[in-house]
Amino acid sequence: MSDVTIKQLAKVLGTPVDRLLAQLGEAGMKFSDPDQVISSTEKVKLLGFLRRTHGKKEEEAPAATPASPRQITLKRRTVSEITVAPGQRGATAKTVNVEVRQKRTYVKRSTVEDNQPVDQEREDALRKLAESQLKREAESQALADADRRRQEEDARMRAADDARRTAAEAVVAEEEARRQAEEAARTAEPEAPAEKAAAPAVERPRPERHREAGAGAGAGAGAGAGDGAHRHRVKHGSHRMQDDGGSEEGGARYFGNELHLSREGAARRTGRKKVKPRAVEPSRSAGSHAFSKPTAPVVREVAVGETITVADLAAKLAIKGVDVVKALFKMGVMTTINQAIDHDTAVLVAEELGHKVVEAADTSAESTLIARQAADGGERSTRPPVVTIMGHVDHGKTSLLDYIRRTKVAAGEAGGITQHIGAYHVETPKGVITFLDTPGHAAFSSMRARGAQSTDIVILVVAADDGVMPQTIEAIKHARAAKVPLIVAMNKMDKSDANPDAVKQGLVQHEVVPEEWGGDVQIVPLSAKTGAGVDDLLDAISVQAEVMDLTAVAEGRASGAVIESSLDKGRGPVATVLVQQGLLSKGDFLVCGVEYGRVRALFNESGVQVESAGPSIPVQVLGLSGVPQAGDDFVVVADERLAKDVAQQRQNKRRESRLVKQAGNRMEDIMAQMGEGTGQLALNIVVKADVQGSAEALREALDAITTEKIKVNVIASGVGGITESDATLAAASKAVIIGFNVRADASARKVIESNGLDLRYFSIIYDVIDQVKQVATGLLGTEVREEIIGIAQVRDVFRSSKFGAIAGCMVIEGTVKRSKPIRVLRDNTVIFEGELESLRRFKENVDEVRNGTECGIGVKQYNDVKPGDQIECFERIEVQRTL
Ligand code: GDP
Repeated sequence: MSDVTIKQLAKVLGTPVDRLLAQLGEAGMKFSDPDQVISSTEKVKLLGFLRRTHGKKEEEAPAATPASPRQITLKRRTVSEITVAPGQRGATAKTVNVEVRQKRTYVKRSTVEDNQPVDQEREDALRKLAESQLKREAESQALADADRRRQEEDARMRAADDARRTAAEAVVAEEEARRQAEEAARTAEPEAPAEKAAAPAVERPRPERHREAGAGAGAGAGAGAGDGAHRHRVKHGSHRMQDDGGSEEGGARYFGNELHLSREGAARRTGRKKVKPRAVEPSRSAGSHAFSKPTAPVVREVAVGETITVADLAAKLAIKGVDVVKALFKMGVMTTINQAIDHDTAVLVAEELGHKVVEAADTSAESTLIARQAADGGERSTRPPVVTIMGHVDHGKTSLLDYIRRTKVAAGEAGGITQHIGAYHVETPKGVITFLDTPGHAAFSSMRARGAQSTDIVILVVAADDGVMPQTIEAIKHARAAKVPLIVAMNKMDKSDANPDAVKQGLVQHEVVPEEWGGDVQIVPLSAKTGAGVDDLLDAISVQAEVMDLTAVAEGRASGAVIESSLDKGRGPVATVLVQQGLLSKGDFLVCGVEYGRVRALFNESGVQVESAGPSIPVQVLGLSGVPQAGDDFVVVADERLAKDVAQQRQNKRRESRLVKQAGNRMEDIMAQMGEGTGQLALNIVVKADVQGSAEALREALDAITTEKIKVNVIASGVGGITESDATLAAASKAVIIGFNVRADASARKVIESNGLDLRYFSIIYDVIDQVKQVATGLLGTEVREEIIGIAQVRDVFRSSKFGAIAGCMVIEGTVKRSKPIRVLRDNTVIFEGELESLRRFKENVDEVRNGTECGIGVKQYNDVKPGDQIECFERIEVQRTL
């Protein structure tokens, strides 16, 4: 509901756009263009305005039925049999015929909304009333004398006739007249045993039923039938009535129509009946007689959070779920009773039903968490800066990060490889600096979109030989949007065609003014290849950090943000978090997004276990209940219970919002299909990636591609190898599968092959975006595609002093060729990419090894191959792009 244009709203309401615009103007909201977006507050305001000016009139708009007849009279006769068990006085069982005649007159009143569904409802309700009353009567009569019962029955019939007549009049008459009828009916009400059994007066929440006067009187008795029902009683005189001393007006009286009473009203009436004479004149309904006027429609105030299910909302409004569904339907929102609707929709539907919505107070566990968090506090001290590197593709981001990591990060365990955890910190003479190693701008902005402002400084890498390029500009925009200061790393200064002045001029055009030109941006010339100037960059970062005076509480409970996460086969969910406040230690309980857990182990970027991590330090956390998302926050809490509660509540909330989102999409889809058939092609994509950050980044970037011609739909994205279920999903929705640093397993490949699905592997995020973009914009051309030509399964690893590690392999697919590049895969995830050092069969060097044959493979610069890994051999081929 959030982004509705006036045009759409008019469509939903069935009102001409011009009229709606005029109404909006009258309501004091200036809109000129039908394509302007109208917010929910404005909608509510408009609703209020219309209510004020027209009373209930605006409700006519969607359901005007000018052709309906002015008056309808219905007659009904039902005959039933009641078998009466032998009573104390009776000797044998008897069968009594009960004939019920009903006549109803419906009169159309133009000032009151009067539409068919409501009549229908009323019919139903009254029929039920009549039925239930019949049953009750049968019970009570079973106890009474048969003859007397017959007399009563006759009398009741007469009373019913009276009631019907008066009821018809009452419909035509105004409120006052109806009350008179009611009064009269009451006077005639007998004190039968059934009186006690009759359901108490029920509060009616919905105003549109006011007008039904006496319509159900034919059945001759009242009963509650759920919400919105009425009591209609028609009984002839009884002992009680005589005791009450009223009733000069004779035996048969009726109680035609009792409008709903408030609870107090009902109570008063009951009390009064016992002690006071019954009112016989309609005019006496007010005053000392405790008949309360029909109360105003009950206006309930309900608290609604971000989302609420239709059933919950109905329960809070004390009406039937199906009524809420109906009201929603009238507003053009199709839901089922179990679906969640968002806050705005809930507000509108509740208003429609005559109730009010108030903002729900925050969920309890969450507020406890915040309260406790606020109570924590402490001395702030200086913390290291957190830096993200951005820039155009191929300008040297990776090279720069690699150089810094290689030369500055303390080596891990002897021989161990530094693993990629999405962030690392370096110690410089001027202090520690933390680098976020996330894939590109998309990750940066999607993390930011989730509220995780994790970066203090952005390093903008610009190649001195290439200058300011589109993604450079994008990076500047991102940094500016996040209000994060920039430092420009002018890379590739070692190149002969480096042109620093051109770069600076390019930057100035985008309002990035170098310090030496009087601006505030430091520009550091360097070379990621030779390493020249990298120290200057680190110095520049430290200087910038000093200016920013970054501080954090270094002790106490930790909090921070998730940078990256993945599911590790052996270790379970693994999340790299950046501690922003406090000290994260082993054994802490934490809530992390919708997950929770106890920190089982902490690893630093070198894969070394650490006991704790302070502000601005990235660590890998083991022990969470699931894989959190990049950008989620994490908070350490005192006890596991609170952690669990908060996580649970967040999970529910997230699920509900997702359901709302999905419902919205479905609606849009329907609308799109019903639309003029614009001929927009949908490109469905299933994305699987090695880490959550990449999956998230890809998803957002791909979703953003949508053009007039093509709508790019990421129908699923996730972390880990491509499984059979991913493939089946893709097959079902005719989607392209994108594997980012992950591969399809054997069963998935079968599904892919048999369905002829399009599966593409990538390892560079921009390539994916680029390719999809080009497909989407119709700029087809040639592309370099990777084709896997062979896969070898590592069976054993031998270490030789001469060749290093040699993997004893079995080629399980295709052919492994020596001249081609390879990748090492573990759990279908790429862990290394490089070249073959040697390919041997029985001590002989060979050029290629075919499927089903054993061989020994040595991988250049990589000694960490393990049994169970796969070595995939691929080639790059140029192919014509197709859709
Ligand atoms: P990214 O796409 O921004 O991550 O760029 P890469 O780090 O992958 O670098 C792209 C290419 O530029 C690689 O071939 C690097 O070897 C090369 N490169 C990066 N930095 C330098 C540099 O300082 N000097 C030179 N000559 N080449 C560089």
